[in-house]
Amino acid sequence: MQFDRRQVLAGLGGIALGNVPSVSFARTVMPLGAAEVISLSDGNLVLPASFFFEGLPQDELDLILAKHNVPRDQLEPPCNLTLLRQEGRIVLFDAGSGPAFMPSAGALLDSLEAEGLTPDDITHVVFTHAHPDHLWGILDDFDEPVFSQAKLMIGQAEWEYWTDPNTVDTIGEARASFAVGAARRLAAIEEQITFFNGGQEILPGVMAHATPGHTPGHMSFEIRDGSSAVMVGGDAIGNEHVAFERPDWASGADQDTDLGAKTRMRLLDQLAADDIALLGFHLPHGGLGRVERAGDTYRFVAKDA
Ligand SMILES: [Zn+2]
Repeated sequence: MQFDRRQVLAGLGGIALGNVPSVSFARTVMPLGAAEVISLSDGNLVLPASFFFEGLPQDELDLILAKHNVPRDQLEPPCNLTLLRQEGRIVLFDAGSGPAFMPSAGALLDSLEAEGLTPDDITHVVFTHAHPDHLWGILDDFDEPVFSQAKLMIGQAEWEYWTDPNTVDTIGEARASFAVGAARRLAAIEEQITFFNGGQEILPGVMAHATPGHTPGHMSFEIRDGSSAVMVGGDAIGNEHVAFERPDWASGADQDTDLGAKTRMRLLDQLAADDIALLGFHLPHGGLGRVERAGDTYRFVAKDA
């Protein structure tokens, strides 16, 4: 099958048609003081492996993929949203794909229901970045805001990038549909939005860290209670295989591949050194686990493997 990069990025590659979101309701939870950090599934993406791995040293890549049982042709990365239940607050990190991106994703509302929640129970939605699988779930089939009672929060730089009318012309053809889709959705939710910057405590116990490269304004969030903490990593560390074994390699998923690699190496080092748990959006087994050093590289140790 031939994959057209632009179509794949638009979610219209035809490869995922017929799939329905497959969600397991196994609950991955990390207690954090009186709060709970919970991983919620939005289903998964279906992407050709070439999207991530083009241009990499193929022999070494093959060894890494074989070691992690990753198929060489097509990847189906899971999508894990983070839910933070705190006293008086129910905070969702990212909004999932919604109904319009890929048939295999967009299962968030079912996962919320399994958690005993409706969209109106969500008090805050905090975005890591504005890619389709993180933002597009903010609107329903009728283009109405899904989380109508929530305060929505996004990094200032991410907002400015995707609402800049020039972005659609400068981002490159492969991602032009991302720009159009983000601008339309951000405009629709503008009245609910507030902005923040890296280094800011955006909610009690939630610190924003600028982690750019995957997108210009990508953010990660450190949720801390005393000595225990978890980092909501978004797509800064995008998979459990190459991103951990060769974090220095360019990832085709990153918009700025050099900056993405620098950010990934810095973040992995910080998580391992400071023993901070990670909840990665596209990591396996619910995405919650620990980063361990393995020689001069890293490995992901999932909590619920
Ligand atoms: Zn993503």
